[in-house]
Amino acid sequence: MQAGATMDLLTPPLASITADGLSLVGEVTAEELGLTEDDAIACGPLAVSLDLTNVEGLVAVTGVLEGTILRECVRCLTQYEDPLAFSVRAAFVPEPKSPPRHPKRVDPRKAREEAVAAEEEEDLDDQYQYQGNFLELAPMLREHIILAAPMQPICSDDCLGLCARCGKNLNEGPCQCATEPPIPTFRVVQGTKRKTGGSSAS
Ligand SMILES: [Zn+2]
Ligand SMILES: [Zn+2]
Repeated sequence: MQAGATMDLLTPPLASITADGLSLVGEVTAEELGLTEDDAIACGPLAVSLDLTNVEGLVAVTGVLEGTILRECVRCLTQYEDPLAFSVRAAFVPEPKSPPRHPKRVDPRKAREEAVAAEEEEDLDDQYQYQGNFLELAPMLREHIILAAPMQPICSDDCLGLCARCGKNLNEGPCQCATEPPIPTFRVVQGTKRKTGGSSAS
């Protein structure tokens, strides 16, 4: 990849996005996406493949984001690599401009565009705004990665977790607690108690 290619990947010029579409394929790093370690820890770069189409200023973005995220298992508390591949869907609309100089003159095309934008705004999750002559895709992709994080990350469905008594990671093998008898009952202990010959007791 040439220097500067990533910059174009994350900030495509609006002029290059037509109704026919623009395809963006490449790799980006967590830093370039603005991902902090509190958001997610990426293992290496993330592969991005996006299709953008611009219909009267409304830019639709669809595609796939792939990468590996380091997570901590809630059961055994160890870190594991979580391969990710999820679809990206977002819409970019122009940032509302300051009131027009001639408010009486209504451009029907403009009005329709605003109606579409207002409709889209109901779905705030994947609605973004752009200003100027290019899109900024990094914040949108960063949000997708954060939202893809599971509420309860588990290293494996078979994860055995930690022993509640000694805290050992049971995925690495059983602990001593498992081989101990559960709780000895007093009655059994009494019943097996033997009286040895009376010689010493006299
Ligand atoms: Zn685990
Ligand atoms: Zn144990």
